[in-house]
Amino acid sequence: MTDALHHRSITAHAAALRAGEYSCEELTRHFLARIEKSERLNSLITVTAEGALAQARDADRALRQNGGDGDSAGALTGIPLVHKDLFCTRGVLTSCGSKMLENFISPYDAHIIEKLGAAGAVSLAKSNMDEFAMGASTETSYYGAARNPWDEARVPGGSSGGSAAAVAAGLAAAATASDTGGSIRQPAAFCSLTGIKPSYGRVSRYGMVAFASSLDQGGVIARSAEDAALLLREISGFDARDATSLREEVPDYPNLLNGGGGGGGSPPLSGMTVGLPKEFFGDGVAEDVAAAAQTAAEQLQKLGAKICEVELPNSAAAVPCYYVLAPAEASSNLARFDGIRYGHRAAKYADLNDFYERTRAEGFGAEVKRRLLVGAFVLAAGYYDAYYIKAQKLRRLIAEDFARAFEKCDILAGPTTPQTAFALGEKLGDPVAMYYSDIFTNAVNLAGLPGISIPAGFDRAGLPVGLQLIGRYLDEASLLRAAHQFQLATDWHLRAPENFS
Ligand code: GLN
Repeated sequence: MTDALHHRSITAHAAALRAGEYSCEELTRHFLARIEKSERLNSLITVTAEGALAQARDADRALRQNGGDGDSAGALTGIPLVHKDLFCTRGVLTSCGSKMLENFISPYDAHIIEKLGAAGAVSLAKSNMDEFAMGASTETSYYGAARNPWDEARVPGGSSGGSAAAVAAGLAAAATASDTGGSIRQPAAFCSLTGIKPSYGRVSRYGMVAFASSLDQGGVIARSAEDAALLLREISGFDARDATSLREEVPDYPNLLNGGGGGGGSPPLSGMTVGLPKEFFGDGVAEDVAAAAQTAAEQLQKLGAKICEVELPNSAAAVPCYYVLAPAEASSNLARFDGIRYGHRAAKYADLNDFYERTRAEGFGAEVKRRLLVGAFVLAAGYYDAYYIKAQKLRRLIAEDFARAFEKCDILAGPTTPQTAFALGEKLGDPVAMYYSDIFTNAVNLAGLPGISIPAGFDRAGLPVGLQLIGRYLDEASLLRAAHQFQLATDWHLRAPENFS
């Protein structure tokens, strides 16, 4: 347990900033100093110290306005964050972890960056990630692997591993991240954090470099469900610049954390039914992980939830289905990186075709190339029906499994990942083994549902275990409420890695 400044919650910072306990500039300098001392984690690609200090001073001014009561300031004013390096940030390198974009200074801000900036948050840095968000370990980054603060010989997960490592190490109050098949939830699980992937369409993808557009969704990695709720409220909502953005009212997440049950002295989660998918507790799940998830489910039960078993019979198809559709969409999305408009460009070439070939051969790393080849293959005229169309049909079956499960329960719970953080290099030579670390998260993106990972204990090696909660479409509020009530009753989320406490 730690009450260090850098592990405090956003709510605690907001109150302290308002009370003048410390200034936002002081807080920002504190994080910047920690960032400098933690370079070995390689969690960040670009540190924007000067910009951060300027934003911090603006925040201090806003907090001092109206006679010092901070009325012109919101809940996120002066809160230092890091942003995954696939969110375009004006005037700052947005590399997507790739050599291809090594020289790309974005001329505009992504929706998420714009919203958080307008809310007064401070942007400390851009975080390391798997190249184009393709990976589960942050080892495919052109900028080198990031390390897990809980055990520096292990991966922090991916692709948002830099965001997770930075928050776990106390280098920022929270971070933005993105999730195409698990990239928010899996690193949150590996680093003992709370990570939420919202429903597809809840958060605008404008300015978020595309990987697989029908699966990509921006979200956050934070210290607690309460912090995640504050951030999610800010980044959600309709944005005309993303054609898949929803015109749905954004619930007031922070104020719904205690809603629902609990009235008249009944336990806080009474009235909620939690389904445990039997496929999530089967073979291949590490003993300690299954046990921690089981204990967490019992905790939800103690809080008043009803527990039932459900089935997701097409679960086994999720990874293969994902690895047809995601590469297919990637091969189309990444066609724009041709060396003409922006990005890396080959210096020597014979003719136009040679130019494209050299540019893309030099600019992309091995995993991205593998995906682009698979994607082009499954979309090819002769294979389209056999792979792409087949995978689309499977996608529907997977979504129907969830719909059927939600007839019996309100949320689903199970381990976020089958194993805890693996060693650096352990799965690099075996892409399929790497792909299977998302076995419980891929399906959620295929169905477009919201999912959250919360700290649920540690295995015998002292590595964090994550519990994933999955909700009905657009019902982030139930996930956050269950997670928050769980966190009021447990202290897993309050622990910090020893070397960064
Ligand atoms: N690990 C998965 C992949 O490699 C998911 C990545 C993500 O969610 N961005 O595609």
